[in-house]
Amino acid sequence: MKHLTRIQIGALREQMLAREALLASEIERVMAERSAREPEGREVDPGVVDLDSALAIADVLRDQHEVDHIRAALGRMDRGTYGRCLSCGTSIPLERLRAQPDAEYCHVCQTRAEGGG
Ligand SMILES: [Zn+2]
Repeated sequence: MKHLTRIQIGALREQMLAREALLASEIERVMAERSAREPEGREVDPGVVDLDSALAIADVLRDQHEVDHIRAALGRMDRGTYGRCLSCGTSIPLERLRAQPDAEYCHVCQTRAEGGG
């Protein structure tokens, strides 16, 4: 049973692809800045990371994490399981998907997962 039309899914796919491209370019920019600051061939002690680098790495990891989520959601679109809660299987409302196209859970399961009580 489909609760989303082909057009709605298409729009959400576009939204995710645009977001993915934005994140990818952001990751690329941060990585380029980092490698520009660290001359090639320099030995970098992985145990010693300055705060700036640590923040940049945290940013990249967060962006990468979101990219992973978006790709997973795009995969679900291909398999035809997109828009259903991964936990209880209920249809995730279009409004929720528009706000967060890579949402994996319905509101109830998400709240439960976050330990909202
Ligand atoms: Zn659910």
